[in-house]
Amino acid sequence: MEIAYFNGKYIPKDEVKISPDDRGFLFAEGIYEVVRWYEGFFYDMNGHLARMKRSLKETLIAWPEEDSFPVIARELIRVNHLESSQALIYLEVTRGAAKRTHAFPSPPASPTVYAYARDFIPENEGKESGIGIMLKDDIRWGRCDIKSVALLPNTLCFQEATGKGFFECAFVKNGIITECTHSNIFFVIRGVLFTHPESSDILSGITRKNIIRVARKAGIPVKEEAVAAKKLGRVQEIFITNTSGEVTPVIKIDSQIIGEGIPGPVTRIIRERFNDEICSLKHS
Ligand code: PLP
Repeated sequence: MEIAYFNGKYIPKDEVKISPDDRGFLFAEGIYEVVRWYEGFFYDMNGHLARMKRSLKETLIAWPEEDSFPVIARELIRVNHLESSQALIYLEVTRGAAKRTHAFPSPPASPTVYAYARDFIPENEGKESGIGIMLKDDIRWGRCDIKSVALLPNTLCFQEATGKGFFECAFVKNGIITECTHSNIFFVIRGVLFTHPESSDILSGITRKNIIRVARKAGIPVKEEAVAAKKLGRVQEIFITNTSGEVTPVIKIDSQIIGEGIPGPVTRIIRERFNDEICSLKHS
């Protein structure tokens, strides 16, 4: 039986009852996090915790027990017997349930806090051969730095991409490639790794931040600078990053082949170094 965390209790997932007046349901007033468990440890839990706190702060949602996230996540692994598996923790916090009106509830409602753990079998699709992604106008709101549950533009664009046979959809804002529907994007131009700088136009991915660190450690120069869609002809390699997919090479954007049309050497080094880091964490 799957056990979830719901407002302070660990209960069977099908016993979780969320009010129809919940502002997460009515207004998408909620934030979330996804953390990966690698058969014995969470990857960069501190990074996820810090980002979660920032999302709460920016959305003015108060969860007084926010520091308990790592403990909840660990307990969900234990009660669901996932210690020796790969797993993902999903956590969502909303402003809570109150009579529907745009004004925030006063006095504040208790936040709704829901989390689950699920076992996770990593997808290997495209990891060796590379994937194709499509480009689309960035139709999202102006605060993409907040990990908000308001993901309709992301799901619409992702659905369109997969329907057309692409693996992901990258957004273009004012001619600039920002990020994808649920991943960040990196470009290699003459040996230098480029990725969009942190700003309100992207979610600051935990994988993005760690890949920048891993790349620099491997001696690969990194510039947190945006790349324009019209400059794709100059790009030798592209890859995307996120918690569940780690690093996935991109060999085609729309109908444009990137570089040689196969995953390139910089992407390969970064994937190897990231895997080495995971292995060393497993054995530490
Ligand atoms: N950008 C967006 C819009 C995302 O939704 C995600 C993850 O879901 C990412 C980037 C990658 O973030 P992370 O590496 O923390 O998984």
